[in-house]
Amino acid sequence: MKREAIEKKKKRALTIAGRLAEAYPQIRVPLRHRNNFELLAATILSAQCTDEMVNRVTPELFRRYPTPDELAKAPTGAIERLIRRLGLFRAKARSLKQCAGELVEHHGGEVPASMEELTRLAGVGRKTANVILGHAFGIPGVVVDTHCKRLSRRLGLTKQEEPNKIERELMGLLPRDEWTGFSHRLILHGRRICYARKPDCKACAINDLCPSVAL
Ligand code: SF4
Repeated sequence: MKREAIEKKKKRALTIAGRLAEAYPQIRVPLRHRNNFELLAATILSAQCTDEMVNRVTPELFRRYPTPDELAKAPTGAIERLIRRLGLFRAKARSLKQCAGELVEHHGGEVPASMEELTRLAGVGRKTANVILGHAFGIPGVVVDTHCKRLSRRLGLTKQEEPNKIERELMGLLPRDEWTGFSHRLILHGRRICYARKPDCKACAINDLCPSVAL
């Protein structure tokens, strides 16, 4: 693709955001949760794992340990047994327990509402923090997962490989109030149309705006 002037790219990104908003009006998090603590725990568990799998293990996990205090006091082995169907379950059990303890010790058992505080918690990187900020607190953020990365590169919005750099680049292209919605809709579009192996370009609502289109 020829180098695109930044203003032109911003305009194209905004048009893509508008089209995706029409295609996917709802951007609810597919992870089952009843409060911010459960959303945080479920998001930590979702690393390298489908939301459906996470939704299968969390009801029992949250029934047994409904608060950060109770989860922090749970034996690691008991948490492992409840989440063992998920990949990386040992590391995730350790992170969950430690994160719950940090919530109790430093935040009065509440989930904090800033990137800085969230990313200091065990198991929480910028992707998880942006999910929490956007959905629990309405604070805009770009969530860069595998779908967001693949689609923003295919769409020619970035050439970066690293999620943090992609996040910054997308933030520079779009107004702040688009960040959360845009990245979540890229994720939805990646799951439903722009598959990793065979993207369904014919059915794609933004195929006239995509330099990687293959019809
Ligand atoms: S046109 Fe094809 S490659 Fe481009 S975003 Fe749509 S499905 Fe993905």
